[in-house]
Amino acid sequence: MSRKIKDTDLTRRDFVKTVGLAGLAVAAAGVPAALAAPEPPAAAAQPAAMPRRKLGKTGVDVSILCLGGMFDTINNQLLLRQALKWGVTYWDTAESYGNGLSEEGMGRFFSRNPEARKEIFLVTKLQTKGGKLTERLNKALQRLQTDHVDLFFIHSLTDINEMTPALKAWAAEMKKAGKIKFFGFSTHTNMADCLAGAAKLDWIDAVMMTYNFRVMNDPKMQAAVDACAKAGVGLVAMKTQAGGPGTPKGPGTAKAEMVDRFLKRGFTDKQAKLKAVWETPQIASLCSQMPNLTILSSNVAAARDQVKLAGEESDSLGRYALETEADYCAGCGNLCQAALGGVVPVNEVMRSLMYHRYYGEPELARLTFGALPSEVRQRLAEVDFSPAEQACPQGLAIASLMRQAKELLA
Ligand code: SF4
Repeated sequence: MSRKIKDTDLTRRDFVKTVGLAGLAVAAAGVPAALAAPEPPAAAAQPAAMPRRKLGKTGVDVSILCLGGMFDTINNQLLLRQALKWGVTYWDTAESYGNGLSEEGMGRFFSRNPEARKEIFLVTKLQTKGGKLTERLNKALQRLQTDHVDLFFIHSLTDINEMTPALKAWAAEMKKAGKIKFFGFSTHTNMADCLAGAAKLDWIDAVMMTYNFRVMNDPKMQAAVDACAKAGVGLVAMKTQAGGPGTPKGPGTAKAEMVDRFLKRGFTDKQAKLKAVWETPQIASLCSQMPNLTILSSNVAAARDQVKLAGEESDSLGRYALETEADYCAGCGNLCQAALGGVVPVNEVMRSLMYHRYYGEPELARLTFGALPSEVRQRLAEVDFSPAEQACPQGLAIASLMRQAKELLA
């Protein structure tokens, strides 16, 4: 019978499946005894340093793993400390994460550990909706208990035209006031177009975008990434596990083959997905929500071990991507929205469903869904989604998923 790991409901086999052998080594090197494996591999004695890469024209060397702050940072102060200890020195938060509570948790950490603030490359974000950016940035800085952020992102850009001359002037003013060092945006909609546009704007320092093993081989995305790299725009990947909005299915043939293949090499399929992203040299860092020490140790191990995917392993990920294509929303919202005359931001609804089903975060899913205009939420049961389904390159069952979103998240 498998021995249960104390304080968790994971068996040792499940835990290895989650963090991989390398993750066990990292866990044993620094997490509380309750999570440490009894016989760590010898490599645990001398863990490798966290690799760093230059973030475009900012010139800053950031850790290749970024702590995504979309979780309860107030009650996870130990996790923040452990991330810093393991070299995860790029932290990302936003006003909208827990309605400011994520920023507040990081602020409490800086208040208790003032020296830590100097080591952290700190990023926060604001959506333009709601205006009053300066007032809201000041409040964010208060919550973070700091006088500046290293990088500020406009949150959730869907079209590069949202980067207006007024925003350019505001960014320059905030830089001059010392409140932000660098400026850019995040995007999980029409990412390739937004990136291509950013490459043409000399005032965008960095962009964080959805980027994973599913979208990275799209020639349009590759061209946009190259253009940004050439223009010196620093790039940060997010949504790297590429989860979808549908009900998780049992393992298909490609998934079973992929999981077995990676476990034989000592890492999990989740770690392999991170490695696939790091193999793009233009990506400076990868932002991951790491709300517990299991995920943190797994991701840190993947970042540190420097083992690259072999050709057949990349192929294995590719086969899995194909097998599950119809479960993934690729964020190309301009296609389905245009087909519907712009009445429903389909990929925003898909994102809410993804948070519920793939991330297992029903509260976050409801918050994201609830942020959509009420008339949009009302329309989900009435709109004829067949033109959007015809336009969708992933072949998603949009009508059915929109109805599920309304029932699940309203
Ligand atoms: S539903 Fe289809 S067309 Fe719309 S964003 Fe998702 S993948 Fe693209």
